[in-house]
Parts: sequence; structure tokens; C-alpha cells
Amino acid sequence: MTRDDRIPVGVLGATGSVGQRFVRLLHDHPWFRVAAVTASERSAGRPYGEAVQWAQEEFLPPEIAALEVLPTEPGFDAPLVFSALDASVAGEVESRFASEGVFVVSNARSHRMDPDVPLLVPEANPGHLDLLDAQSFPEGGGIVTNPNCSTIGLILPLRALHDAFGVRQVHVVTLQAISGSGIPGIPSMQILDNVVPYISGEEGKLEKETLKILGDLDGGAIRNAEFIVSAQCTRVPVFDGHLEMVSVGLERPADPDEAIEVMSAFRGVPQELELPSAPLRPIHVLDGEDHPQPRLHRNLERGMAVSVGRVRPCSLFSLKMGLLSHNTVRGAAGGALLCAELALAQGRIPGIRRP
Ligand code: NAP
Repeated sequence: MTRDDRIPVGVLGATGSVGQRFVRLLHDHPWFRVAAVTASERSAGRPYGEAVQWAQEEFLPPEIAALEVLPTEPGFDAPLVFSALDASVAGEVESRFASEGVFVVSNARSHRMDPDVPLLVPEANPGHLDLLDAQSFPEGGGIVTNPNCSTIGLILPLRALHDAFGVRQVHVVTLQAISGSGIPGIPSMQILDNVVPYISGEEGKLEKETLKILGDLDGGAIRNAEFIVSAQCTRVPVFDGHLEMVSVGLERPADPDEAIEVMSAFRGVPQELELPSAPLRPIHVLDGEDHPQPRLHRNLERGMAVSVGRVRPCSLFSLKMGLLSHNTVRGAAGGALLCAELALAQGRIPGIRRP
């Protein structure tokens, strides 16, 4: 496939923290090309390069900078859109696009817990794409969601441990980066020289989304996983990369070496299918006694791998460890791209085919 034959896609909310990441990742994508960018009325009608406060380390491709920002309404020519919309508007807007026959892959929380919407981490629950059969949008329309950024990091090691030993309970404390709070984000007067032990709504998302993702699809509906998750979330002065300190209780005993082996060997359908955004190894277990660290490890495998370190016995539960994932790549735009690649590779987006 030449670059011009790539599938045209839209990015909804393209001027935000996650929207920019989509634009950057899509520019190099072998299957998709950015055909439309949308945002709020504040930005619509302006060239993207003027409307956006570009905060990526890589340059803004000139052909994207020249695109006119469209209002966030269906009607442009793209069978697939990625939504990085503010949650206050995402729910209604995404339903409208799907009702017009557009396939939506969303980062917003609005539809994540809808019973007929897959909450997808492609290595962890690829079979949940079958929930699309329960959606009643016209031909081509559908909604798939990507979990919260801290949930995604937690899910991959939990999937590996749950399959091997059974998870009974999880306690997690997150140290989350400021890029997770969008643009312009948390004021510098609040975050510099500081840690904020509160992120609105975040703990509930981690506790609930985890159980849906690791639940079983049974008779066309998800039966949630039956363990307990307790989360405490903090915002720290790091630009990108969420660190999570996790204690896990297991049904069957496992020592740290067994857990490390299981997590290191973990692979999923995206690796089997060699999807373009799939990391070769979803989980990297690091040896360093002070690893993982955001600055050192967030870009592992182009930001798509989760790094785990300090796996050791826990005096309350079975094991404890630290894990790290890139919140706007694996935890948002990159994770959503992988969802779309999986859906396409499995023929779940009517009207378009894997190139
Ligand atoms: P953000 O930086 O605040 O960007 C929000 C985007 O939505 C902007 O493009 C904004 O356009 C657009 N928007 C706002 N109000 C709108 C309206 N009424 N109509 C149309 N567009 C509107 O937020 P973000 O951090 O990128 O997050 C985007 C979504 O992803 C949110 O739902 C968030 O919860 C979720 N998410 C974020 C992360 C992360 O790490 N940041 C991770 C996972 C999921 P203007 O520029 O024109 O205002």
C-alpha cells in the first residue's frame, strides 16, 4: 500500500493533549492517514497549525498544520474517527458519529461502561470486540473505547498474573503525569514543588474499568472479574508517564521469580498478528533496583510497552511491584490506534479492510 492509499481517518478533539498525540502517531502510520481534524468552536475554521498549542517533541507535519480545523460534527469523508474529545461533549458526539455510520474509537470515559461497548486493551481482552454485535448503529457505525490511562498500565501485568495464578485483590497507588490533565493542564503554581493527592474521578475508574476488562464475555454480556481493586491516585510534577505502585493478592502462591517469568513471557493477539502499533513485548520486567522511572522508561517500544520492576514479596498481599506506562501513548492515542488495528484486522469495521 502506498501512502496515498491509506484509510482516511478523522481526529476529534485534535488540538488537545491526546489529539496531538494522535496526529503525530497517525502521520507515520502505515494503514491510516489524517484526513480531518476537529475541535471546539474556539478552534474551528482556523488552520490546525494556528489553533493548536503544539507540545510534542517531534515537529508538526506541514500538511497537517495546513488542514482547516472542522467543527466536531459528522459529514466529512472518513469511515473511522479517533475521539480525544473532552468528556463533557464526547458521549453525545460519539453516538452521533456512530449513528451516521462512522466507526468511533474513543479515549473519553463517556461510553466506557456501556454494557454493549467494548472497553478494549487488545492484548488483554480482544474477544470483547464481539460486543459490537449488540450495537444497533447503521452499517459501518460502532463505538469501541480505550480505558483510562492508569488502568491500561495496570491491566497488562494483571492479565498475565490473573491467567497464571488468579488475582484476589489489588491495591494501587498512582503517581500520574501532568499531561494526563489535558491542555493547559494543572497550573504550575499547584504542581511545581508539590504532589496533589487527588484526581477527580480517577480512583473509581481504575477500580471499575479493571473488572470490566478482565471480565468474561458470557451470553453476549460482560460478567465482571470478581476480585477487589482499591486505588489511590496522585498527580506529580512529571511531564509524561504514569508510575503505579501495586500490591497484588493471588489465589495460588507465586514467588517473585515465577511472576517475573509469567509477565515477561506474556504476549497477545496484537503480537501474533504483528499489528503496526503492537510492542514486541507488552511487558518488560526491569532488573534495576530503582526501576522503572518515567524519564528513563516511558518511551520503551515507542511508548507502547509497560515496564515493571521491583517485584518482591508483600507482607499484606502476595507480591508488590512498580509499573510504568506512557499515559498519552499506550494510555491514550497509541492504545486507541492498537484497538482500531485489531478491529480492522479482525474484520470488525464494516466497509474497510486491513491493507
Ligand atoms: P484536552 O487537552 O483538554 O483536549 C480536549 C479536546 O476536546 C480539545 O481538542 C478541545 O478543543 C476539544 N473540545 C473541548 N470542548 C469541545 C466541544 N464543546 N466541542 C468540540 N470539541 C471540544 O484533553 P486531553 O487530555 O487531550 O483528553 C482528551 C480525552 O481523552 C478526555 O476525554 C480525557 O479524559 C481522555 N484521556 C486523556 C488522557 C491523557 O493522558 N491526557 C489519557 C486517557 C484518556 P479546543 O482546543 O478547541 O478547546
